[in-house]
Amino acid sequence: MTRKVRTRIAPSPTGFLHLGTARTALFSWAYARHHGGDFILRVEDTDEARSTQEAVDQIIAAMKWLNLDHDEGPYFQMQRLARYREVIGHMLNDGTAYRCYCTPAELDAMREAQRARGDKPRYDGRWRPEPGKALPAIPEGARPVIRFRNPIDGTVTWDDMVKGSITISNAELDDLVIARPGADADTLIGTPTYNFCVVVDDWDMQISHVIRGDDHVNNTPRQINILRALGAELPVYGHVPMILGPDGDKLSKRHGAVSVTEYESAGYLPEAMLNYLARLGWSHGDDELFSREQLVSWFDGQHLAKSPAQWDAAKLNWVNAHHLKALPDEVLAGHVVARCAERGIKVVADAQLGRMCALFKDRCATTVELCDWLAMYFADVAPSDADRSTHVTDAVRPALLSLRDRFTEIEWTKPAISAAIKEAITAHGLKMPQLAHAVRVLVCGRAQTPSIDAVLELFPRDTVLARLKIG
Ligand code: GLU
Repeated sequence: MTRKVRTRIAPSPTGFLHLGTARTALFSWAYARHHGGDFILRVEDTDEARSTQEAVDQIIAAMKWLNLDHDEGPYFQMQRLARYREVIGHMLNDGTAYRCYCTPAELDAMREAQRARGDKPRYDGRWRPEPGKALPAIPEGARPVIRFRNPIDGTVTWDDMVKGSITISNAELDDLVIARPGADADTLIGTPTYNFCVVVDDWDMQISHVIRGDDHVNNTPRQINILRALGAELPVYGHVPMILGPDGDKLSKRHGAVSVTEYESAGYLPEAMLNYLARLGWSHGDDELFSREQLVSWFDGQHLAKSPAQWDAAKLNWVNAHHLKALPDEVLAGHVVARCAERGIKVVADAQLGRMCALFKDRCATTVELCDWLAMYFADVAPSDADRSTHVTDAVRPALLSLRDRFTEIEWTKPAISAAIKEAITAHGLKMPQLAHAVRVLVCGRAQTPSIDAVLELFPRDTVLARLKIG
């Protein structure tokens, strides 16, 4: 019987949702959706000192914005401590885990001696039970850590979805600490460690495919050994290469924004982020532009790249511009409302805003750029002195005055506005750009815009008349 596909994203809430984690979430989500499976959100918050509620809220909000909906969770590891301790209890009973009473000073001395001999520093197994082996006497008042009894011989092999077959020798792996010492004599088992919690969670949550960053490759053989010791079915693993910055280093703040939320406020659309992120490490033929639905129908776990992808801000802009144009105007207007609100401009997503979006969207890569354009409809404009002196010249002023007069009486439609402008240039012996530029500078605050009649039609007539008043 084939297993139901169940994937998860397991962020640590120590900061915002990083682009790399968002991409892993996207791959895991798309894989689950492709197979009609489940996608689970799990918050790995056992690093109490660094985990914050604010980060949890931000991560959940960013996932929601990207529309990566989860079927279960969020589960929180800190709420599952009793379960981890229960499993450790079973492992202590069946001998797959054991107590180690080495003090930190002893471990330091052990490593020092190994280094001095030219050996790789590792736990030497002094508290590891073996048939016929006498263990040291338990020191008075000492609180043990719990170690996993890793197999000594043989190898761990898995067929990675991304990297192909990987084999690690057990000789490379020492007996991992799976729980820290208890806080007091009554708490025998302290906080379990990352590698252990992940295993119990993946087991309990019946995760079938673990897709994650390749910084976890070294953890995988340890996790597989623990899963085997528990008699658990193994998930399929897929380790996705890092995202690199344009200079080839790991993508970081140094290269610009790395938090998903920052891209939202910078005017990127969730559909575009998904499209762009999906292509960082995955391909479907030559397809560069696609929808969420296409991604889901194509994402079958094949064609995941072995080599790292590089962040390309210009390409993201291109992808965003495409999705921006493809959105229905009323949906685009909804995005614009949020971006305008961030700069103190209150607008509603009505049909008029939709028409404004339609007029300017071809010139914009982001909704922030779109807001830059639309601001002239909702806030005062301040033409520069240079634009005024270049375009609002004495030669044009008489034409502006008669145009303004005509604007008071015509029907406020694009054809009527266009006809009025043509009349004025003919009457005053001007060329179209001369008058159109002057009107643009005064009404729009800038000399370049789409067709002036289309731009003016979307203003209330009174605003245009007020801005064309030139004394
Ligand atoms: N909490 C881990 C991280 O943020 C994820 C571990 C995993 O996916 O197994 O890197």
